[in-house]
Amino acid sequence: MSGDKSFDDLNLNKWIIRQCSTIGVKSPTPIQTHCIPEILRGVDCIGAAKTGSGKTLAFALPIIQKLCEDPYGIFALVLTPTRELAYQIADQFAIVGKPINIRCSVIVGGIDMVEQGIQLSRHPHIVVATPGRLADHLESCKTFSLSRIKFLVVDEADRLLGGQFDDQIKTIFASLPKSRQNLFFSATITDTLESLKEISNKEVILYQDPSLAEVATVDQLEQFYVLCSKDVKEAYLVQVIREYREKDEDGSIIIFTDTCKSCQVLSMTLNEVGFDNVALHSMCPQQQRLAGLAKFKSKTVKILFATDVASRGLDIPTVSLVINHSVPKVPKEYIHRVGRTARAGRIGKAITLLTPSDIKLLQSIEELIKTTLKEFKVDETEVGKIFTQISVTKSESFLKLDEGDFFEKSLINKRKKWILEGLDPDEEEAKLFKKYKRKKKKNKVISK
Ligand code: AMP
Repeated sequence: MSGDKSFDDLNLNKWIIRQCSTIGVKSPTPIQTHCIPEILRGVDCIGAAKTGSGKTLAFALPIIQKLCEDPYGIFALVLTPTRELAYQIADQFAIVGKPINIRCSVIVGGIDMVEQGIQLSRHPHIVVATPGRLADHLESCKTFSLSRIKFLVVDEADRLLGGQFDDQIKTIFASLPKSRQNLFFSATITDTLESLKEISNKEVILYQDPSLAEVATVDQLEQFYVLCSKDVKEAYLVQVIREYREKDEDGSIIIFTDTCKSCQVLSMTLNEVGFDNVALHSMCPQQQRLAGLAKFKSKTVKILFATDVASRGLDIPTVSLVINHSVPKVPKEYIHRVGRTARAGRIGKAITLLTPSDIKLLQSIEELIKTTLKEFKVDETEVGKIFTQISVTKSESFLKLDEGDFFEKSLINKRKKWILEGLDPDEEEAKLFKKYKRKKKKNKVISK
Protein backbone atom coordinates (compact mmCIF):
# COMPACT_ATOMS: atom_id res chain seq x y z
CA MET A 1 0.00 0.00 0.00
CA SER A 2 3.04 2.30 0.02
CA GLY A 3 4.16 4.72 -2.70
CA ASP A 4 7.71 5.56 -3.93
CA LYS A 5 8.43 8.43 -1.53
CA SER A 6 9.51 8.13 2.09
CA PHE A 7 8.15 10.04 5.09
CA ASP A 8 11.42 12.06 5.06
CA ASP A 9 10.34 13.56 1.72
CA LEU A 10 7.08 14.92 3.14
CA ASN A 11 8.46 17.66 5.44
CA LEU A 12 7.39 15.83 8.58
CA ASN A 13 9.32 16.22 11.84
CA LYS A 14 11.74 13.42 12.72
CA TRP A 15 9.93 12.53 15.95
CA ILE A 16 6.64 12.00 14.07
CA ILE A 17 8.38 9.72 11.56
CA ARG A 18 9.96 7.77 14.46
CA GLN A 19 6.61 7.49 16.21
CA CYS A 20 4.97 6.18 13.01
CA SER A 21 7.74 3.65 12.64
CA THR A 22 7.13 2.29 16.15
CA ILE A 23 3.56 1.43 15.13
CA GLY A 24 4.69 -0.24 11.90
CA VAL A 25 3.93 2.71 9.60
CA LYS A 26 7.23 2.98 7.76
CA SER A 27 6.54 4.48 4.34
CA PRO A 28 3.66 6.70 3.21
CA THR A 29 0.67 5.53 1.22
CA PRO A 30 -0.22 7.49 -1.97
CA ILE A 31 -2.86 9.63 -0.25
CA GLN A 32 -0.34 10.49 2.48
CA THR A 33 2.37 11.30 -0.08
CA HIS A 34 0.02 13.68 -1.92
CA CYS A 35 -1.83 15.32 0.93
CA ILE A 36 0.64 15.68 3.83
CA PRO A 37 3.00 18.25 2.18
CA GLU A 38 0.01 20.26 0.91
CA ILE A 39 -1.68 20.32 4.30
CA LEU A 40 1.61 21.40 5.87
CA ARG A 41 1.78 24.16 3.23
CA GLY A 42 -1.53 25.45 4.56
CA VAL A 43 -3.94 24.77 1.70
CA ASP A 44 -7.39 23.18 1.90
CA CYS A 45 -7.60 19.61 0.77
CA ILE A 46 -10.18 17.21 -0.61
CA GLY A 47 -8.92 13.64 -0.54
CA ALA A 48 -10.66 10.59 -1.93
CA ALA A 49 -9.12 7.17 -1.69
CA LYS A 50 -10.15 3.60 -1.16
CA THR A 51 -11.05 2.55 2.29
CA GLY A 52 -8.01 1.34 4.27
CA SER A 53 -5.67 3.61 2.30
CA GLY A 54 -4.31 5.49 5.32
CA LYS A 55 -6.65 8.50 5.11
CA THR A 56 -6.66 9.10 8.86
CA LEU A 57 -2.91 9.54 9.17
CA ALA A 58 -2.94 11.66 6.00
CA PHE A 59 -4.67 14.37 8.05
CA ALA A 60 -3.59 13.41 11.58
CA LEU A 61 0.19 13.66 10.97
CA PRO A 62 0.26 17.24 9.57
CA ILE A 63 -2.24 18.40 12.21
CA ILE A 64 -0.05 16.98 15.00
CA GLN A 65 3.01 18.67 13.50
CA LYS A 66 1.24 22.05 13.31
CA LEU A 67 -0.10 21.58 16.84
CA CYS A 68 3.44 21.05 18.03
CA GLU A 69 4.49 24.44 16.60
CA ASP A 70 1.67 26.28 18.38
CA PRO A 71 0.04 24.08 21.02
CA TYR A 72 -3.37 25.12 22.33
CA GLY A 73 -6.88 23.73 22.57
CA ILE A 74 -9.19 23.39 20.78
CA PHE A 75 -6.79 23.21 17.83
CA ALA A 76 -8.59 20.83 15.48
CA LEU A 77 -12.12 19.53 15.05
CA VAL A 78 -12.70 16.22 13.27
CA LEU A 79 -16.27 15.34 12.28
CA THR A 80 -17.20 11.78 11.42
CA PRO A 81 -20.59 10.07 10.94
CA THR A 82 -20.40 7.22 13.45
CA ARG A 83 -19.40 6.85 17.08
CA GLU A 84 -17.10 3.91 16.42
CA LEU A 85 -15.19 5.84 13.75
CA ALA A 86 -14.77 8.73 16.18
CA TYR A 87 -13.03 6.46 18.68
CA GLN A 88 -10.91 4.90 15.95
CA ILE A 89 -9.71 8.31 14.72
CA ALA A 90 -9.02 9.57 18.25
CA ASP A 91 -6.94 6.44 18.89
CA GLN A 92 -4.68 7.24 15.93
CA PHE A 93 -4.18 10.83 17.13
CA ALA A 94 -3.46 9.57 20.65
CA ILE A 95 -0.88 6.99 19.53
CA VAL A 96 1.12 9.29 17.25
CA GLY A 97 0.74 12.31 19.55
CA LYS A 98 1.75 10.48 22.73
CA PRO A 99 5.23 12.04 22.96
CA ILE A 100 3.67 15.53 23.10
CA ASN A 101 0.91 14.44 25.52
CA ILE A 102 -1.77 15.20 23.01
CA ARG A 103 -5.23 15.52 24.57
CA CYS A 104 -8.16 14.24 22.50
CA SER A 105 -11.85 14.28 23.36
CA VAL A 106 -14.40 12.07 21.72
CA ILE A 107 -17.81 13.73 21.66
CA VAL A 108 -20.47 11.26 20.57
CA GLY A 109 -24.02 10.33 21.52
CA GLY A 110 -24.87 7.71 24.11
CA ILE A 111 -22.30 9.04 26.62
CA ASP A 112 -22.95 11.31 29.59
CA MET A 113 -23.21 14.91 28.34
CA VAL A 114 -22.11 16.50 31.59
CA GLU A 115 -18.87 14.52 31.62
CA GLN A 116 -18.31 15.52 27.98
CA GLY A 117 -19.01 19.17 28.82
CA ILE A 118 -16.30 19.04 31.52
CA GLN A 119 -13.85 17.50 29.05
CA LEU A 120 -14.57 20.22 26.49
CA SER A 121 -14.08 22.96 29.07
CA ARG A 122 -10.55 21.66 29.67
CA HIS A 123 -9.47 22.67 26.16
CA PRO A 124 -8.50 19.36 24.55
CA HIS A 125 -6.18 19.76 21.56
CA ILE A 126 -8.28 17.62 19.27
CA VAL A 127 -12.05 17.09 19.34
CA VAL A 128 -13.36 14.14 17.37
CA ALA A 129 -17.14 14.27 17.18
CA THR A 130 -20.30 13.04 15.56
CA PRO A 131 -22.35 16.04 14.37
CA GLY A 132 -25.52 15.44 16.42
CA ARG A 133 -23.88 15.41 19.83
CA LEU A 134 -21.49 18.25 19.08
CA ALA A 135 -24.40 20.42 17.87
CA ASP A 136 -26.24 19.57 21.14
CA HIS A 137 -23.26 20.82 23.16
CA LEU A 138 -22.95 23.98 21.11
CA GLU A 139 -26.61 24.76 21.63
CA SER A 140 -26.72 23.92 25.31
CA CYS A 141 -23.43 24.88 26.99
CA LYS A 142 -21.08 27.81 26.86
CA THR A 143 -18.08 26.20 28.55
CA PHE A 144 -16.06 25.77 25.39
CA SER A 145 -15.51 27.45 22.07
CA LEU A 146 -14.56 26.32 18.59
CA SER A 147 -13.82 29.88 17.49
CA ARG A 148 -10.03 29.44 17.38
CA ILE A 149 -9.68 26.09 15.66
CA LYS A 150 -6.98 25.90 12.98
CA PHE A 151 -8.25 22.74 11.29
CA LEU A 152 -11.64 21.38 10.39
CA VAL A 153 -11.59 17.79 9.16
CA VAL A 154 -14.71 16.26 7.66
CA ASP A 155 -14.19 12.52 7.45
CA GLU A 156 -16.56 10.44 5.27
CA ALA A 157 -17.46 13.82 3.79
CA ASP A 158 -19.82 12.47 1.15
CA ARG A 159 -22.07 11.13 3.89
CA LEU A 160 -21.76 14.06 6.28
CA LEU A 161 -22.42 16.63 3.57
CA GLY A 162 -24.98 14.52 1.75
CA GLY A 163 -28.03 16.15 3.38
CA GLN A 164 -28.81 13.89 6.33
CA PHE A 165 -26.80 15.99 8.81
CA ASP A 166 -27.53 19.43 7.32
CA ASP A 167 -29.00 21.06 10.46
CA GLN A 168 -26.25 19.90 12.79
CA ILE A 169 -23.54 20.81 10.28
CA LYS A 170 -25.05 24.30 9.96
CA THR A 171 -24.96 24.79 13.75
CA ILE A 172 -21.36 23.58 13.92
CA PHE A 173 -20.10 25.59 10.96
CA ALA A 174 -21.67 28.75 12.43
CA SER A 175 -19.39 28.39 15.47
CA LEU A 176 -16.15 28.01 13.49
CA PRO A 177 -13.72 30.80 12.56
CA LYS A 178 -13.60 31.88 8.91
CA SER A 179 -9.84 31.52 8.69
CA ARG A 180 -9.25 27.83 9.13
CA GLN A 181 -7.89 25.01 7.04
CA ASN A 182 -10.56 22.63 5.69
CA LEU A 183 -9.76 19.00 5.02
CA PHE A 184 -12.40 16.78 3.46
CA PHE A 185 -11.86 13.05 3.15
CA SER A 186 -14.00 10.35 1.67
CA ALA A 187 -13.84 6.84 0.25
CA THR A 188 -16.01 7.86 -2.68
CA ILE A 189 -15.87 11.06 -4.68
CA THR A 190 -19.24 12.66 -5.31
CA ASP A 191 -20.68 15.78 -6.90
CA THR A 192 -20.89 17.28 -3.40
CA LEU A 193 -17.13 16.97 -2.98
CA GLU A 194 -16.40 18.28 -6.46
CA SER A 195 -18.62 21.30 -5.83
CA LEU A 196 -16.77 22.07 -2.57
CA LYS A 197 -13.75 22.82 -4.70
CA GLU A 198 -15.71 25.26 -6.82
CA ILE A 199 -17.31 27.18 -3.96
CA SER A 200 -14.14 27.46 -1.89
CA ASN A 201 -12.45 30.85 -2.14
CA LYS A 202 -9.12 29.47 -0.93
CA GLU A 203 -6.52 27.34 -2.68
CA VAL A 204 -7.77 23.75 -2.61
CA ILE A 205 -6.03 20.62 -3.77
CA LEU A 206 -8.12 17.68 -4.83
CA TYR A 207 -6.46 14.29 -4.58
CA GLN A 208 -8.26 11.33 -6.00
CA ASP A 209 -6.79 7.86 -5.87
CA PRO A 210 -6.37 7.14 -9.63
CA SER A 211 -7.88 3.67 -9.32
CA LEU A 212 -10.96 5.03 -7.56
CA ALA A 213 -12.56 6.15 -10.79
CA GLU A 214 -12.11 2.73 -12.35
CA VAL A 215 -12.71 0.07 -9.72
CA ALA A 216 -13.76 1.13 -6.30
CA THR A 217 -13.04 -2.15 -4.54
CA VAL A 218 -9.58 -3.63 -4.05
CA ASP A 219 -8.09 -6.41 -6.20
CA GLN A 220 -7.50 -8.78 -3.28
CA LEU A 221 -11.24 -8.96 -2.71
CA GLU A 222 -13.16 -11.92 -4.12
CA GLN A 223 -16.83 -11.12 -4.58
CA PHE A 224 -19.67 -13.63 -4.72
CA TYR A 225 -23.43 -13.89 -4.59
CA VAL A 226 -25.73 -16.65 -3.35
CA LEU A 227 -29.15 -16.78 -4.95
CA CYS A 228 -31.95 -17.86 -2.62
CA SER A 229 -35.58 -17.06 -1.92
CA LYS A 230 -36.52 -14.70 0.90
CA ASP A 231 -38.00 -17.27 3.28
CA VAL A 232 -34.91 -19.51 3.26
CA LYS A 233 -32.38 -16.69 3.54
CA GLU A 234 -31.39 -17.38 7.14
CA ALA A 235 -30.77 -21.08 6.48
CA TYR A 236 -28.57 -20.07 3.54
CA LEU A 237 -26.77 -17.59 5.74
CA VAL A 238 -25.96 -20.27 8.30
CA GLN A 239 -24.84 -22.69 5.58
CA VAL A 240 -22.57 -20.03 4.00
CA ILE A 241 -20.89 -19.53 7.39
CA ARG A 242 -20.53 -23.29 7.95
CA GLU A 243 -18.92 -23.81 4.54
CA TYR A 244 -16.67 -20.79 4.99
CA ARG A 245 -15.57 -22.04 8.38
CA GLU A 246 -14.46 -25.36 6.85
CA LYS A 247 -11.80 -23.43 4.92
CA ASP A 248 -11.08 -20.61 7.35
CA GLU A 249 -11.58 -21.46 11.01
CA ASP A 250 -10.09 -18.31 12.35
CA GLY A 251 -11.07 -15.30 10.23
CA SER A 252 -13.55 -12.75 11.53
CA ILE A 253 -16.86 -12.24 9.74
CA ILE A 254 -19.08 -9.15 9.51
CA ILE A 255 -22.70 -9.69 8.46
CA PHE A 256 -24.56 -6.58 7.29
CA THR A 257 -28.33 -6.34 7.68
CA ASP A 258 -30.70 -3.57 6.61
CA THR A 259 -32.50 -2.64 9.87
CA CYS A 260 -31.70 -2.54 13.59
CA LYS A 261 -34.46 -5.02 14.23
CA SER A 262 -33.31 -7.63 11.73
CA CYS A 263 -29.75 -7.13 12.99
CA GLN A 264 -30.86 -7.90 16.54
CA VAL A 265 -33.09 -10.85 15.59
CA LEU A 266 -30.44 -12.47 13.39
CA SER A 267 -27.79 -11.98 16.05
CA MET A 268 -30.05 -13.66 18.65
CA THR A 269 -30.93 -16.48 16.24
CA LEU A 270 -27.33 -17.31 15.41
CA ASN A 271 -26.23 -17.09 19.04
CA GLU A 272 -28.98 -19.58 19.84
CA VAL A 273 -27.80 -22.09 17.20
CA GLY A 274 -24.18 -21.94 18.29
CA PHE A 275 -22.60 -19.14 16.28
CA ASP A 276 -21.28 -16.87 18.99
CA ASN A 277 -21.64 -13.26 17.83
CA VAL A 278 -22.22 -9.64 18.82
CA ALA A 279 -24.58 -7.06 17.32
CA LEU A 280 -23.83 -3.44 16.46
CA HIS A 281 -26.66 -1.10 15.56
CA SER A 282 -27.94 2.29 16.60
CA MET A 283 -30.54 0.88 19.00
CA CYS A 284 -27.83 -0.73 21.19
CA PRO A 285 -26.75 1.37 24.18
CA GLN A 286 -23.37 3.02 23.47
CA GLN A 287 -21.50 1.07 26.18
CA GLN A 288 -22.80 -2.17 24.67
CA ARG A 289 -21.71 -1.01 21.20
CA LEU A 290 -18.19 -0.32 22.42
CA ALA A 291 -17.98 -3.55 24.45
CA GLY A 292 -19.25 -5.63 21.51
CA LEU A 293 -16.81 -4.02 19.12
CA ALA A 294 -13.93 -4.56 21.56
CA LYS A 295 -14.83 -8.27 21.80
CA PHE A 296 -14.89 -8.50 18.02
CA LYS A 297 -11.62 -6.62 17.56
CA SER A 298 -9.86 -8.84 20.10
CA LYS A 299 -11.33 -11.95 18.40
CA THR A 300 -13.11 -13.06 21.57
CA VAL A 301 -16.07 -13.40 19.21
CA LYS A 302 -15.52 -13.79 15.52
CA ILE A 303 -18.90 -12.82 14.08
CA LEU A 304 -20.33 -9.30 14.10
CA PHE A 305 -23.86 -8.48 12.97
CA ALA A 306 -24.15 -4.85 11.97
CA THR A 307 -26.26 -2.28 10.20
CA ASP A 308 -24.62 0.33 8.00
CA VAL A 309 -23.47 2.05 11.18
CA ALA A 310 -20.39 -0.18 10.76
CA SER A 311 -20.10 0.07 6.99
CA ARG A 312 -17.69 2.99 6.82
CA GLY A 313 -14.08 3.29 7.78
CA LEU A 314 -13.93 0.66 10.52
CA ASP A 315 -10.44 -0.75 10.44
CA ILE A 316 -10.36 -4.33 11.72
CA PRO A 317 -7.59 -6.14 9.83
CA THR A 318 -8.73 -9.65 10.87
CA VAL A 319 -12.02 -9.45 8.96
CA SER A 320 -11.71 -12.02 6.19
CA LEU A 321 -15.36 -12.24 5.13
CA VAL A 322 -18.18 -9.73 4.71
CA ILE A 323 -21.66 -11.14 4.17
CA ASN A 324 -24.49 -8.95 2.96
CA HIS A 325 -27.62 -10.49 4.42
CA SER A 326 -29.46 -7.83 2.44
CA VAL A 327 -28.27 -6.12 -0.73
CA PRO A 328 -27.52 -2.47 0.06
CA LYS A 329 -30.11 -0.16 -1.47
CA VAL A 330 -27.49 2.39 -2.52
CA PRO A 331 -24.72 0.84 -4.66
CA LYS A 332 -21.99 2.98 -3.06
CA GLU A 333 -22.89 1.54 0.33
CA TYR A 334 -21.82 -1.86 -1.07
CA ILE A 335 -18.29 -0.50 -1.56
CA HIS A 336 -18.18 0.76 2.01
CA ARG A 337 -19.46 -2.53 3.43
CA VAL A 338 -17.10 -4.83 1.53
CA GLY A 339 -14.25 -2.44 2.32
CA ARG A 340 -14.30 -3.85 5.88
CA THR A 341 -12.31 -6.80 4.52
CA ALA A 342 -9.25 -7.14 2.26
CA ARG A 343 -7.65 -4.25 4.12
CA ALA A 344 -4.03 -3.14 3.79
CA GLY A 345 -3.07 -5.70 1.15
CA ARG A 346 -4.75 -8.71 2.78
CA ILE A 347 -7.06 -11.13 0.98
CA GLY A 348 -10.80 -11.05 1.69
CA LYS A 349 -14.16 -12.35 0.48
CA ALA A 350 -17.57 -10.74 0.17
CA ILE A 351 -20.71 -12.84 -0.24
CA THR A 352 -24.07 -11.21 -0.94
CA LEU A 353 -27.32 -13.07 -0.36
CA LEU A 354 -29.54 -12.29 -3.28
CA THR A 355 -33.27 -12.82 -3.74
CA PRO A 356 -34.84 -12.63 -7.20
CA SER A 357 -36.18 -9.14 -6.47
CA ASP A 358 -32.65 -7.86 -5.81
CA ILE A 359 -31.29 -8.61 -9.29
CA LYS A 360 -31.64 -4.98 -10.50
CA LEU A 361 -29.79 -3.71 -7.44
CA LEU A 362 -27.01 -6.19 -8.05
CA GLN A 363 -26.67 -4.99 -11.63
CA SER A 364 -26.21 -1.38 -10.49
CA ILE A 365 -23.55 -2.52 -8.01
CA GLU A 366 -21.75 -4.53 -10.68
CA GLU A 367 -21.80 -1.52 -12.99
CA LEU A 368 -20.32 0.66 -10.28
CA ILE A 369 -17.53 -1.73 -9.29
CA LYS A 370 -16.95 -2.87 -12.88
CA THR A 371 -16.86 -6.46 -11.72
CA THR A 372 -19.27 -9.33 -12.17
CA LEU A 373 -19.92 -11.21 -8.95
CA LYS A 374 -19.40 -14.97 -9.13
CA GLU A 375 -21.87 -17.50 -7.80
CA PHE A 376 -20.95 -19.04 -4.44
CA LYS A 377 -22.27 -22.60 -4.54
CA VAL A 378 -23.92 -23.71 -1.33
CA ASP A 379 -24.82 -27.32 -0.47
CA GLU A 380 -28.60 -27.14 -0.82
CA THR A 381 -29.20 -30.54 0.78
CA GLU A 382 -27.59 -29.19 3.96
CA VAL A 383 -29.74 -26.04 3.72
CA GLY A 384 -32.80 -28.27 3.59
CA LYS A 385 -31.65 -30.14 6.70
CA ILE A 386 -31.19 -27.03 8.84
CA PHE A 387 -34.08 -24.98 7.46
CA THR A 388 -36.71 -25.91 10.06
CA GLN A 389 -34.41 -25.42 13.04
CA ILE A 390 -33.27 -21.99 11.84
CA SER A 391 -36.81 -20.82 11.00
CA VAL A 392 -38.17 -21.89 14.39
CA THR A 393 -35.26 -20.25 16.23
CA LYS A 394 -35.75 -17.05 14.26
CA SER A 395 -39.46 -16.94 15.15
CA GLU A 396 -38.61 -17.48 18.81
CA SER A 397 -36.04 -14.68 18.65
CA PHE A 398 -38.70 -12.36 17.27
CA LEU A 399 -40.94 -13.14 20.22
CA LYS A 400 -38.10 -12.69 22.71
CA LEU A 401 -37.18 -9.34 21.28
CA ASP A 402 -40.25 -7.99 23.01
CA GLU A 403 -41.48 -6.14 19.99
CA GLY A 404 -43.24 -3.49 22.01
CA ASP A 405 -40.16 -2.47 23.92
CA PHE A 406 -37.92 -2.38 20.85
CA PHE A 407 -40.47 -0.40 18.86
CA GLU A 408 -41.05 1.98 21.77
CA LYS A 409 -37.32 2.75 22.08
CA SER A 410 -37.09 3.37 18.35
CA LEU A 411 -40.09 5.69 18.53
CA ILE A 412 -38.57 7.69 21.40
CA ASN A 413 -35.41 8.20 19.32
CA LYS A 414 -37.45 9.26 16.32
CA ARG A 415 -39.52 11.74 18.37
CA LYS A 416 -36.32 13.31 19.76
CA LYS A 417 -34.99 13.69 16.21
CA TRP A 418 -38.22 15.28 14.98
CA ILE A 419 -38.21 17.76 17.87
CA LEU A 420 -34.62 18.71 17.03
CA GLU A 421 -35.60 19.15 13.41
CA GLY A 422 -38.38 21.51 14.46
CA LEU A 423 -41.13 19.10 13.33
CA ASP A 424 -44.28 18.27 15.25
CA PRO A 425 -43.59 14.82 16.80
CA ASP A 426 -47.30 13.89 17.02
CA GLU A 427 -47.90 14.70 13.39
CA GLU A 428 -44.79 12.82 12.29
CA GLU A 429 -45.75 9.81 14.45
CA ALA A 430 -49.21 9.72 12.87
CA LYS A 431 -47.61 9.83 9.38
CA LEU A 432 -45.27 7.00 10.36
CA PHE A 433 -48.14 4.79 11.55
CA LYS A 434 -50.07 5.45 8.36
CA LYS A 435 -47.04 4.42 6.30
CA TYR A 436 -46.52 1.33 8.48
CA LYS A 437 -50.16 0.27 8.02
CA ARG A 438 -49.92 0.75 4.24
CA LYS A 439 -46.77 -1.37 4.13
CA LYS A 440 -48.39 -4.13 6.21
CA LYS A 441 -51.43 -4.19 3.92
CA LYS A 442 -49.18 -4.40 0.85
CA ASN A 443 -47.19 -7.28 2.35
CA LYS A 444 -50.42 -9.15 3.06
CA VAL A 445 -51.45 -8.86 -0.56
CA ILE A 446 -48.04 -10.10 -1.71
CA SER A 447 -48.01 -13.11 0.62
CA LYS A 448 -51.49 -14.27 -0.50
P1 AMP B 1 -7.42 4.29 7.32
O1 AMP B 1 -7.52 4.33 5.82
O2 AMP B 1 -7.07 5.61 7.88
O3 AMP B 1 -8.63 3.68 7.94
O4 AMP B 1 -6.16 3.36 7.71
C1 AMP B 1 -6.18 1.97 7.61
C2 AMP B 1 -5.05 1.30 8.36
O5 AMP B 1 -3.82 1.50 7.70
C3 AMP B 1 -4.83 1.78 9.81
O6 AMP B 1 -4.69 0.65 10.63
C4 AMP B 1 -3.52 2.52 9.77
O7 AMP B 1 -2.77 2.41 10.97
C5 AMP B 1 -2.78 1.82 8.63
N1 AMP B 1 -1.84 2.71 7.95
C6 AMP B 1 -2.00 4.03 7.73
N2 AMP B 1 -0.95 4.52 7.05
C7 AMP B 1 -0.11 3.48 6.84
C8 AMP B 1 1.17 3.35 6.19
N3 AMP B 1 1.76 4.40 5.65
N4 AMP B 1 1.76 2.13 6.18
C9 AMP B 1 1.14 1.07 6.75
N5 AMP B 1 -0.05 1.11 7.38
C10 AMP B 1 -0.68 2.31 7.42
